[in-house]
Amino acid sequence: MTQYEHYIGGQSFQGDSDRLGDVYDPARGIAKSQVRLATAGDVDAAVTAAAKAFQTWGETSVTARSRVMFDFRQLLVEHEDELAAIISSEHGKTLADAKGEVVRGREVVEFACGIPQLLKGEYNDQVSGGIDSHTFRQPIGVVAGITPFNFPIMVPLWMHPVAIATGNTFILKPSERVPGASDLVARLYTQAGLPDGVFNVVHGDKVAVDAILEHPGIAGVSFVGSTPIAKYVHAGASRTGKRVQALGGAKNHAVVMPDADLDFAADHIVAAGYGSAGQRCMAISAVVAVGPAADTLVDKIRERSVDLKVSVGTDPDAEMGPVVTKASRDRIVDYVGQGEAAGAKVVLDGRDLVVEGLEEGFFVGPSLLDDVTTDMSVYTDEIFGPVLTVLRVPTLDAAIELINSNPYGNGTAVFTSSGEVARTFQRKVHVGMIGINVPVPVPMAFHSFGGWKDSLFGDHHIHGPEGVRFYTQAKVVTTRWPHVSEESLAQLNFPTAQ
Ligand code: NAD
Repeated sequence: MTQYEHYIGGQSFQGDSDRLGDVYDPARGIAKSQVRLATAGDVDAAVTAAAKAFQTWGETSVTARSRVMFDFRQLLVEHEDELAAIISSEHGKTLADAKGEVVRGREVVEFACGIPQLLKGEYNDQVSGGIDSHTFRQPIGVVAGITPFNFPIMVPLWMHPVAIATGNTFILKPSERVPGASDLVARLYTQAGLPDGVFNVVHGDKVAVDAILEHPGIAGVSFVGSTPIAKYVHAGASRTGKRVQALGGAKNHAVVMPDADLDFAADHIVAAGYGSAGQRCMAISAVVAVGPAADTLVDKIRERSVDLKVSVGTDPDAEMGPVVTKASRDRIVDYVGQGEAAGAKVVLDGRDLVVEGLEEGFFVGPSLLDDVTTDMSVYTDEIFGPVLTVLRVPTLDAAIELINSNPYGNGTAVFTSSGEVARTFQRKVHVGMIGINVPVPVPMAFHSFGGWKDSLFGDHHIHGPEGVRFYTQAKVVTTRWPHVSEESLAQLNFPTAQ
């Protein structure tokens, strides 16, 4: 059985913890490996290594930092299949879906390869007589990333390439449920020539997270996970004076207008609702059918979902894999029951799905609930499983009002053939990422990713230009080179431009 250890200072690090967590193969329902769970002392060892590395990495030329990113990118290409296999085996998602996240994560590395261009400062000539002014940005120091189970490589890649390329050193605390991809990423960075201690992995649970939040040697924290933990991390890191961005959970709505192409909308809603077994922070979970769209739309979603192939992620025909743990499976099944008891119509019921030969796997079939109302727990709570709920509203305004009343504001989409509807929707809705006939509007790496309201705590979105800003701090320099014989105009009044 594989046992994952931390990776600190360019090598495997066992530390002083005797606590181990089980890592499951969710398709078979068995523990397949174990992961060491860090103590506060192990986090301290990582901070010591990262702080030491920062002394030289922060001074390394931006060109040299960019070259490491180019080499790291190439290694991610060469190891794409291996990474996808690790992700699929620990998370459960299909191999094709796992490869998709490797590619989307790699795009952040491609963005970071252009760091010399991104770090160009600003310059003003002659802000006053003989005086110039320029702004440039420097790294903030040792930064930490705390990540969720559902994108074992992509979400960490939202963080560390940008942090490292901007000159910081990094400590990753990945989800203890999916440690394998981070272990390989650490080795690939070393192979790419990244100096020891610039990228470190500390595996663990709440103990490690609390140690990160408390450690005075950590300057910034990026977090992605559920809303309660995002709030906790935001408050904890703020209390200890760190820069923090904490991305939380979601309840993403897809509004379908009567003027939409309903076949197109149904195809994309099925993909966005059931892909990765609904375990994406940008998954569609609430379908808001406007006016007469509802009956036909529900039929079309059902037709397309009923025969989805659910199996182990390595099955080339699988469209959906298991969910991550037995507890997740039980929670999702329970929510469908709660919806039914509250009066929702169960159009498609995935609760009793058993996959032949994988009877112990954590499988839930696609489930579709119609006539859902905003007071039902299937609507108010983030289910994080393959459950689509349909709410019916009379107008676009009512759909927007419904979305804006929801505490989450991560992603949303509208399906329509009207430019006017699309424009009204994108301007009025209180959500950070919006798709117009695009159900999962995850921004490309050169834009920034982030929700509103309870989906993000902190000031910065992640990766893209906002990532560069988060991991750097600005300096403004005002310069005068007086002529040797120049008369000094120094006076005690506050200086104004001449
Ligand atoms: P989670 O909040 O349980 O865990 C996230 C991280 O926090 C993990 O590293 C975990 O070890 C740590 N953690 C868990 N409990 C903790 C505690 N009590 N104290 C301190 N640290 C703790 O999330 P998850 O189940 O791994 O991932 C799914 C959640 O992540 C969903 O809510 C999903 O919407 C969200 N998510 C959000 C985004 C986004 O961009 N907004 C992206 C991906 C996932």
